[in-house]
Amino acid sequence: MSPARIDKPLTLALSKGRIFDETLPLLEAAGIRVTENPETSRKLILPTDSPDLQIIIVRASDVPTYVQYGAADFGIAGKDVLYEHMAQHPGGLYQPIDLNIARCRLCVAVREGFDYDAAVHQGSRLRIATKYVRAAREHFAAKGVHVDLIKLYGSMELAPLVGLADAIVDLVSSGGTLRANHLVEVEEIREISSRLIVNQAALKMRSARLQPIIDAFGRASDSMT
Ligand code: ATP
Ligand code: MG
Repeated sequence: MSPARIDKPLTLALSKGRIFDETLPLLEAAGIRVTENPETSRKLILPTDSPDLQIIIVRASDVPTYVQYGAADFGIAGKDVLYEHMAQHPGGLYQPIDLNIARCRLCVAVREGFDYDAAVHQGSRLRIATKYVRAAREHFAAKGVHVDLIKLYGSMELAPLVGLADAIVDLVSSGGTLRANHLVEVEEIREISSRLIVNQAALKMRSARLQPIIDAFGRASDSMT
């Protein structure tokens, strides 16, 4: 008699939206199809056509946490999210490949007509609203600008319009949301894409199942760029 399988399936943590959509072709390249759509299904655990691989759907900023604690074996997270996560939890996550998906840029934006160049100089003081507190703090510290950081969890574009902040630090891809809210991008902080992240214990203990998927993701993202 074969021994009972007590292994839980290999678990991949993804966020809905851009990252999920752009991961599907990578999964397909690894021979894996997701059999349910997270936009219409209310399930947070999605099966795939591969019985030993399941996908969990979590908030983008929670993906590193699930992987770090081993609740997911691997995941895909934006460098924006990873940078903030690493400030609180250094080490513990293996980040083997830049998948080059969900590309955008982290930048500073202000209200149209706001004189950013005049407001930003050595020794000046600025109020910045952002979800990306670490990236914002380091960016302005390097310029010698004092900032009062106001942590927000979404709809950052609103902050300069209602007088909560002088500027925001946020992700931009097409710039459409900024334009719709009469904001302009005044500085790029860094380019963003998503990385594969892997739990270190899982990499050791489950490498026979994990490594082929990691390799397929790497090959697929190379061929797409
Ligand atoms: P939620 O929408 O649940 O509040 P979120 O806004 O942090 O969470 P998403 O909007 O799903 O999450 O974005 C997830 C990731 O997609 C980001 O962390 C980033 O790496 C990437 N991304 C790429 N382009 C953009 C963009 N224009 N705006 C936001 N995120 C983007
Ligand atoms: Mg969002």
